[in-house]
Amino acid sequence: MRETYEELRERMVREQLEARGITDPRVLAAMRKVPRHHFVPRRHRAFAYDDCALPIWFGATISQPLMVAMMAELLRIEGGEKTLEIGAGSGYQAAILCELGANLITVERVPRLAAIAQNNLRRHGYDARVLCADGSIGLPEEAPFDRILFTASPPKMPKAYEDQLAPGGRIVGPVGSRAVQELVLVEKTPDGRVLRREYGGCQFLPLVGEQGWDEKELSNYRWEE
Ligand code: SAH
Repeated sequence: MRETYEELRERMVREQLEARGITDPRVLAAMRKVPRHHFVPRRHRAFAYDDCALPIWFGATISQPLMVAMMAELLRIEGGEKTLEIGAGSGYQAAILCELGANLITVERVPRLAAIAQNNLRRHGYDARVLCADGSIGLPEEAPFDRILFTASPPKMPKAYEDQLAPGGRIVGPVGSRAVQELVLVEKTPDGRVLRREYGGCQFLPLVGEQGWDEKELSNYRWEE
């Protein structure tokens, strides 16, 4: 008999997350709860719980479950933190952050994706704000943030993010070349010092914008819907 989506999700959590070192019980509970298959296009639903990123719409992808969980764990959201996500995409990572109690604003540069993320979040009862804008410059009018997560990769950490981070805050996201990036955690200590740690290689779509990649430079990387 075919496994149900609930069974597939449970197996994803055990085999892809618990078995590979995700230990935060709140992150594991959020990954057990949010129906990832509702955040991917119908034609890819059968693969929603596979161990990989999947194409969603307009050239974007939904990140691999392990990456979503790692980033959520590194952010250490306890509840109520003012959080900025850059790259809303499907809204799935945003849903996980909301489950953890983040007070979330998520920014997406592609208008129709922003609408999809907004719909997906509303439909599941999450009241994150979704804005359509260039998130490579952060969101100065709403700063400071306790947490910043970017899910598209810039060539280097946008200065705007560090500037808009509150003392005691954390930034997580992939930084590097177009081909491969390093998952980076930046912490701002209560006295304002900035610490940086790296958590291994990863591959994300480019962060396109003022403090990210120039769209023209990316012309060799054509993507298909
Ligand atoms: N977090 C998403 C996956 C994001 S894929 C999810 O859970 O589904 C990366 C997204 O970043 C894409 O949707 C892309 O359009 C968006 N993006 C790229 N550059 C951006 C920018 N400067 N500002 C906001 N979003 C951007």
